[in-house]
Amino acid sequence: MPITPLMPVYPRCGVRPVRGEGCYLIGENGERYLDFAAGIAVNALGHGHPHLVKAIADQAATLMHVSNLYGSPQGEHLAQRIVDNSFADTVFFTNSGTEAVECAIKTARRYHFVNGNPERTTLITFNNAFHGRTMGAISATNQPKMRDGFEPLLPGFAYAPFNDLDAALALIDETTAGFMVETIQGEGGVSAGSPEFIQGLRKACDEHGLLLVLDEVQCGYGRTGKMWAYEHYGITPDIMSVAKGIGGGFPLGACLATEEAAKGMVFGTHGSTYGGNPLAMAAGEAVLDVMLEPGFLENVTAMGERLRGALEQMIPNHDDVFDSVRGKGLMLGIKLKDAVVARDFVAHARDAHGLLTVSAGENVVRVLPPLVIEDSHIAEAIEKLSEAARSYAPVAA
Ligand SMILES: *Cc1c(COP(=O)(O)O)cnc(C)c1O
Repeated sequence: MPITPLMPVYPRCGVRPVRGEGCYLIGENGERYLDFAAGIAVNALGHGHPHLVKAIADQAATLMHVSNLYGSPQGEHLAQRIVDNSFADTVFFTNSGTEAVECAIKTARRYHFVNGNPERTTLITFNNAFHGRTMGAISATNQPKMRDGFEPLLPGFAYAPFNDLDAALALIDETTAGFMVETIQGEGGVSAGSPEFIQGLRKACDEHGLLLVLDEVQCGYGRTGKMWAYEHYGITPDIMSVAKGIGGGFPLGACLATEEAAKGMVFGTHGSTYGGNPLAMAAGEAVLDVMLEPGFLENVTAMGERLRGALEQMIPNHDDVFDSVRGKGLMLGIKLKDAVVARDFVAHARDAHGLLTVSAGENVVRVLPPLVIEDSHIAEAIEKLSEAARSYAPVAA
């Protein structure tokens, strides 16, 4: 077999979407799927949201792209709104999550460099982390499946078990720049950092002059019912990577930082051809318009509680398949019993019952619906999950 024209790095499934309508995807032959994957936490407003669609169409007809050599009224406006609604003083726009992570790594290194501590280059990161697929981002995780064959990796990372504060603190030495951590791990299995862990990392940064870099590419931007997941912990980071939901499906990411943490990022230190172009900014503005409407985030919290409650109620009826529910807001995970493989169950729910979810580490099924779901979608998802559990026959070992 010759290689496929599309580089075969994804084990793509049989779903071949050609259209989206709200919380549903429609395949080539008219099949309908309830989309509780949302492009892996990207389609925050669902598919075809009229405000987002119109903003992109209007901007495409007005001005799509100009170089960052020119002034950016569009970028200044969106950056100001993000600054007004976060810990940050400044924003660098990217086209993806992994680029936002790269900018975060570079910002952290430059901070210590301009502070006269060029030896402080190491970011302490965590087991099961996922930060993206660029060389920097794969160097920041110790998961072999992402790193094998790509060595030599970027030096300057040390790895500790997630949620193990003592182990993280024990790695601090004179080369440490800070910590980089997902406030709530997504790919790793929808594991929330414990309050003691996240708050302990913040405290250690303050005591040792280190930087707390949060990766909220998946858990940020309204997903957990707060604008940012760090708000659940009563702390703020120094630097943060954001993407996925920020563009609602348009490729957009951002690196946020405080003025102090960004002090090394001066003219010429970083850049991107597309990053923050007018079309991307229009998409970002439209998503933010909707998210900042009064009641939007409260509704995410309410729907998250209802979905979680319904999942918890369902579990005892199918305790041969489901173990427990985890996560926050509409970033939920169903941990499966050891006898069931999450990837197989996700495929079964998809192919036999038309429900889209995503598998994650620790044998977890990720439930990441659009943030605009209604009660009817929750009821339908629970029905499909129950049916899927009933009809699921584990692949014989
Ligand atoms: C998805 C993800 C990334 C990478 O984002 P891309 O847009 O795929 O580059 C980085 N960090 C976290 C936590 C993610 O979930």
